[in-house]
Amino acid sequence: MSKNKKKIETEAIRIQSERSQFSEHSTPLYLTSGFVFDDAEDMRASFAEEKQRDLYSRYSNPNVSEFVDKVCAMEGAEAGFAFASGMAAVFSTFATLLDAGDHVLSCSSVFGATHGLFTKYFPKWNIECSYFNINEVDSIEGLIQPNTKFIYAETPTNPGVDVLDMDALSAICKKHNLLLVIDNCFATPYLQNPIKHGADLVIHSATKLMDGQGRVLGGITVGKKELIREIYLFSRLTGPSMSPFNAWVLSKSLETLALRVEKHCENALKLAIYLEAHPKVKWVKYPFLKSHPKYEIAKKQMRLGGNIIAFEVEGGLDSGRAFLNAIKMCSLSANLGDTRTIVTHPASTTHAKVEQDVKVAAGITDGMVRVSVGLEHVDDIIEDLEQALEN
Ligand SMILES: *Cc1c(COP(=O)(O)O)cnc(C)c1O
Repeated sequence: MSKNKKKIETEAIRIQSERSQFSEHSTPLYLTSGFVFDDAEDMRASFAEEKQRDLYSRYSNPNVSEFVDKVCAMEGAEAGFAFASGMAAVFSTFATLLDAGDHVLSCSSVFGATHGLFTKYFPKWNIECSYFNINEVDSIEGLIQPNTKFIYAETPTNPGVDVLDMDALSAICKKHNLLLVIDNCFATPYLQNPIKHGADLVIHSATKLMDGQGRVLGGITVGKKELIREIYLFSRLTGPSMSPFNAWVLSKSLETLALRVEKHCENALKLAIYLEAHPKVKWVKYPFLKSHPKYEIAKKQMRLGGNIIAFEVEGGLDSGRAFLNAIKMCSLSANLGDTRTIVTHPASTTHAKVEQDVKVAAGITDGMVRVSVGLEHVDDIIEDLEQALEN
């Protein structure tokens, strides 16, 4: 990596694994499970970590390292480890950092699978989790327990598109000697860098805007070197690592992340403004709309507003479902951050089994629709949503 820190658009393109003897311009795909050693001494020294080199692709691989180096440069992180999926990153990070008897304080609006981890699996390892209300950051200090290890938050949140003040969270963590772990999936390293706002670790589902084309799954955790070292040691034993193929795809995707995300955000802001003026839309939530309750905070910590919009269709659960049924061009899919615009109705799908009070705390209402705005021409996206609202 070069000593002069370049802009993140450049880092995403110019960070590359070492060229092979063929002098290729674009990084080749290192589809290999293992690596060879010169002799017994080379092998001993490599396993003893006296040499920095690849041993086995469960530990590291040139394609995976290239992807990790890029994300570290973009996030301003010391180190990172890449995973097979975003949930593998979330789980492995928690499993490394938490001991039986520990407590996690999480924002009330988290990704559904993360909520499932907290409620279904943590209790059997005697790990406690409690939620703080995203709109009551002042209440957080009262919820800290003697066994609290870290504060966990997503911002913007899924699917409520709420925004949390990371500087405020970090101040609380510093005061109480807690780690701050941020799921930065919705913002990507292009829009927001939690480490600059005091986060110790940043988690991404690379499946979303990082890939951006709905092809591969991936995840990554970046942050403090000593914490990543622990996560690495856990992962090299348990095997949640990213595949070289996915890393190769994702590293190429990062080369266009800035360009793609700029356009996603431009389309999303135009659609949000359109929806806000529509008579059948009760409310719209988008971080860069002045009506967003945390608009000022979003402006402070995000470059642009992201590609996710939440809005409430007049008429509740049935209207939300009817709206989805009337959609013609946009996709009904569980993914997000794709080139293709995707609409979902959380109340009847991803959050159908979530208890009512949890849903309310996460800002999910019956008629709420989540749009992951894609890269189609914005006029065509608006036209599809418009005809669905009319019908
Ligand atoms: C999708 C997502 C995850 C999980 O990522 P996968 O790659 O699907 O495992 C975690 N957090 C957030 C905010 C997500 O949107």
